[in-house]
Amino acid sequence: MKGGILVVFTGIGASSGLALAPAFCLTSKRGPVGRASSRSFEEAREQLKRQYDQSIAALTGAGRRAEAEVLLCHREMVSDVLLEERVNQGLIQGLDPAAAVEKACHILCQMLAQVNSDYIRQRAEDLKDVCSRLISLLCQEELPSLAGLEREVVLVAHQLSPADLATADLACIKGIVLAGGTLTSHIAILACSLGIPAVVGCPHAVEAAKSGEPLFLDGASGKVECGLTHRRKTELARLVKEEGERVCQLAQQALLPSVTADGLPIRVESSISDSRTAQKSVEYAADAVGLLRTEFLFHNRESLPGEELQYYLEIARQLGGQRFTIRTLDIGGDKPSPCIPIPKEENPFLGTRGIRLTLRQPEILLCQLRAILRASAQADIQVMYPMITSLEELQAAKQWMDTAKKQLAQEGLPFDPAIREGIMVEVPSAALLCDLLAPHCDFFSIGSNDLAQYLLAADRNGECLPQLGSYLHPAVLRVIQMVLDRAAEEGIPCSLCGEMAKDPLATPLLLGMGLTNFVVTPAAIPALKEGISRLDTGACRRIARQALSCSTAGEVVRLLQMEREQTVPAR
Ligand code: PEP
Ligand code: MG
Repeated sequence: MKGGILVVFTGIGASSGLALAPAFCLTSKRGPVGRASSRSFEEAREQLKRQYDQSIAALTGAGRRAEAEVLLCHREMVSDVLLEERVNQGLIQGLDPAAAVEKACHILCQMLAQVNSDYIRQRAEDLKDVCSRLISLLCQEELPSLAGLEREVVLVAHQLSPADLATADLACIKGIVLAGGTLTSHIAILACSLGIPAVVGCPHAVEAAKSGEPLFLDGASGKVECGLTHRRKTELARLVKEEGERVCQLAQQALLPSVTADGLPIRVESSISDSRTAQKSVEYAADAVGLLRTEFLFHNRESLPGEELQYYLEIARQLGGQRFTIRTLDIGGDKPSPCIPIPKEENPFLGTRGIRLTLRQPEILLCQLRAILRASAQADIQVMYPMITSLEELQAAKQWMDTAKKQLAQEGLPFDPAIREGIMVEVPSAALLCDLLAPHCDFFSIGSNDLAQYLLAADRNGECLPQLGSYLHPAVLRVIQMVLDRAAEEGIPCSLCGEMAKDPLATPLLLGMGLTNFVVTPAAIPALKEGISRLDTGACRRIARQALSCSTAGEVVRLLQMEREQTVPAR
């Protein structure tokens, strides 16, 4: 690409927001393998583990727990037996250590590529990153580093791993453009949780970008522009500034309590996964944490975590006394964990998932409940059980809670004896039985992602449903209305989480159905609060009535789009 000739590329928008800054092209300085390694595989492995230990300690100290967890997984991969076996085979065949690592990596990635799962594909990306670091150490070549970054840049790279970001000053990273990566790659998830605009899967932009030259990206649409003319740069700078002002204004408004236009107070709570996102929850003025996903604790590790009291206390400290709802481990389905053996199943979403799994491996549940209870002595905590399908499951989970309480009492350890227990209503059977479950619960939280998946018999990650509005299907709406009504009759609070909670199209509908507690990611709070402030509950009730009488999801979507055009001024 010649400088000054505008070129526009389209990749996958992975984290929304606009960025305009000089490109910083992070290309590996490692040449093709073929040169002699200057140390043994064993030495390089030990050195890499030490490097990971340093980064993990630094990230943990800085509250960047999610990144630390990923590096922990990378550290474990360094000692992976399969990797070691394959490398040794290469060495026996007379390959140089670096070439043996490269070959082993290639073979293992090919094996992983045969598995039809985003999660496993991500493991292949992790393995490539680990092997690339091993090879650089073997050849004593310098890895590209972000440690000295002092000015604002858009990072441009073929691949980027959380290990690359570990040493960077995140304030300098205005955006990320990657040749590879998917929406579910670690780096995309990380960029989203850090609020850094990102575009992935855009190889041509990566080839075209030149370090130091201005580059623009729109992380919502996936658009990347290079070779900016002076005029275009000025236009884009204005757009980025306006977008920044809009976000700031929304964030300012979000600090105020959320009320509808006619004065009904609405709770807007956050869904988080670690202390870093807990900090975001406070920044965005969430009323509480409505969902702490504890899966992060179990991701990317070969052995089970112990009583991770510290994890809960770190979050409590960030929240400064605010209530938080901890969901017990919801692993299985599309969320496997290497440290928990799950029998191979034809239909994992219909198999051992959520509470079903932890009731079958109760040592995991007991350990987690003990930690939660111990944290409850110092923080305002409630516990939520995922994927409940029957009263027996709820009773069994509550019995384990009683066991945990008895054990702690015997050990003389303090806890909140009146800790509140609730359930996710996300399986049709639980929704239909919610009147029977209610007397045993202190609260409900409707999980709109799974409820839609199981009601419509359609994989939530699959392509058999239109992206827009699977949760706007009339069947899903009827069930949500039923749960909200039963909860109101029984007098127990009921929130709603999942994608539907943050969809602006669904806000008037949910308010009209009687929902007064939304649970969304922290970054979605400002726009949700702004949407709520425009709406009148009388009008919302009319919209809900109309939507509930629609025969198809398409009709519901059209109705809501029409209503939205009338309430939101065109920008
Ligand atoms: C849901 O199912 O809507 C939900 C919030 O849980 P998860 O997406 O973690 O399954
Ligand atoms: Mg769910």
